[in-house]
Amino acid sequence: MSLRPLPLGAAKITGGFWQDRQDVNRKTTIPAAADRLEQAGTLRNLRRAAGHEPAGDGFTGKLFADSDVYKWLEAVAWEQSRSPSSELASWQATTSAVVAAAQEPDGYLNSYVRLALGGKRFGDLEKGHELYCAGHLLQAAVAQSRATEDRTLLTVACRFADLLCATFGPGRTEGVDGHPLIETALVDLYRETGRSSYLELASYFVEARGQGLLTPPGHHGPAYFQDHLPVRSVRTIAGHAVRALYLASGATDVAVEMGDAGLLDALRATWQTMVESQAYLTGGVGSRWYGEAFGDPFELPPDAAYCETCAAIASVQWSWRLLLATGESQYADLIERTLYNAVISGVSLTGDKFFYVNTLKVRRGAFADDQRSAVAGRQPWFGTACCPPNVMRTLASLDQLVATSDDDGVQLHLYAPSSVTAEVSGGSVGLEVATRYPWQGTVTVRVTESPRSPWALGLRLPAWASGCTLTVNGVKQATGPVGRLLSMRRSWSVGDEVVLSLPVGARRTEPDDRVDSVRGCVAIERGPLVYCFEQVDQDVVLDETAVVPGPLVSRERPELLGGVTTVEVPARDGQTLTAIPYYAWANRSVGPMTVWIDAR
Ligand SMILES: [Zn+2]
Repeated sequence: MSLRPLPLGAAKITGGFWQDRQDVNRKTTIPAAADRLEQAGTLRNLRRAAGHEPAGDGFTGKLFADSDVYKWLEAVAWEQSRSPSSELASWQATTSAVVAAAQEPDGYLNSYVRLALGGKRFGDLEKGHELYCAGHLLQAAVAQSRATEDRTLLTVACRFADLLCATFGPGRTEGVDGHPLIETALVDLYRETGRSSYLELASYFVEARGQGLLTPPGHHGPAYFQDHLPVRSVRTIAGHAVRALYLASGATDVAVEMGDAGLLDALRATWQTMVESQAYLTGGVGSRWYGEAFGDPFELPPDAAYCETCAAIASVQWSWRLLLATGESQYADLIERTLYNAVISGVSLTGDKFFYVNTLKVRRGAFADDQRSAVAGRQPWFGTACCPPNVMRTLASLDQLVATSDDDGVQLHLYAPSSVTAEVSGGSVGLEVATRYPWQGTVTVRVTESPRSPWALGLRLPAWASGCTLTVNGVKQATGPVGRLLSMRRSWSVGDEVVLSLPVGARRTEPDDRVDSVRGCVAIERGPLVYCFEQVDQDVVLDETAVVPGPLVSRERPELLGGVTTVEVPARDGQTLTAIPYYAWANRSVGPMTVWIDAR
């Protein structure tokens, strides 16, 4: 591994844009989810499986509903590492006890299988989601173990994982789950416990994929669940986007832990194809509603975009693993783009409503024929409620993505008011970061602790940041090219101050000519934020106008949408259009909206 994640708590977001969202997540989103999980019957399923309530009419909801509870428990655990509370501790204790009681004597655990299938296990690996649910249990357990003193879920997870190791693999049951996740979750559990059998099973599941062990459902082909090719033969990511990206994350984990350079090279090539031709400007992925799937290269229609919130989150998880494996800042660039645009668009500013689908365009007269349609607006919950708790665990663990270390130094990847401590070969490093990013581009890094020997401070220079400037204690420094990690190795002293100025002024972005659906259009970006035009802010009909060359005027609007900077864009006939950050759209009403706008 090239870079190391910092120990939990070593990087803390202390204010600004992301802390505002984390506060809403903690105060509104996570508590509201406790109610939703109760109202939907999701928690009751587990109580029934545990024998704490009569089985009654059995199981309620989708067969993978247990996973919603596990993702919520993961968020509850990470939140306690940020700041403990009696409410969080109580939810964790109560729910973990139910989960533990629902576990069967041999370690198996799934309330749907217990209540709806009479305990018949692993009978439908294609659609059953049993190992997917197990994966979310394992991840919640690792979070709980790392973030709190509680080992309840870790004990449950290890017993279940031991059962899986005894059940699956060469000479045992040959099979993989239709919905990947167990792969990366088993590696998480291996890293937490050191038990190599978990890594071996993860490796088996990765290598067994693409061998035709699964029968595709309905009209789908084997690419739907990534069973069309072995992972190491893939160069273009395909099929159901969330599945594809969880599998890619797990395969990256396996490649790193096994020292498998060939597998890592295949994954890096696949990532490159994705970012160059299968990802939207927002970082969102998944062009097709059918199969919730990736499209072909350059198939990126803005209006028909699927861009599931979970897929954006899975993309962040994969890019994080590749960043650690390689140290290349292109992965952190995509993490930033995706977080600011495709992930947080998935939750309302109030924190209590969610998008499943994150479209880039809504037409006049659009009709919502599905609860997932953006035209229906953000929803309080979904029948398939994968996205809301995924947002919760992502925001609750966001501090962990701020910085990394290696023997030689510390690297800052996400710019936010924060404090960072890390161990380098010479001793302890402490940093304080002050910034109003993303609204303003000045990032001030002050050294609060430093060993006597030289070490390297790494700063990510985003690919869009041409013209950025840098000073150290007021003395101008060369930055070199952008789109990379700038490493400054020297003898640092407490009180040293580094000021990075990123040019966050609004800019026009032209699409790749091969994306036929937006040819002739431009989009507005400002720093890491993608902008959009909502009809409610305009005096002209969006579909009947076009932007023209001229200055882009940024305006701070503290009263608008929780405080945003808008961008005024000159349009045809002397008109002016107003763009807002894409993540904030549909927080007033849902009307016509577009990221790409005609520029001809
Ligand atoms: Zn989802």
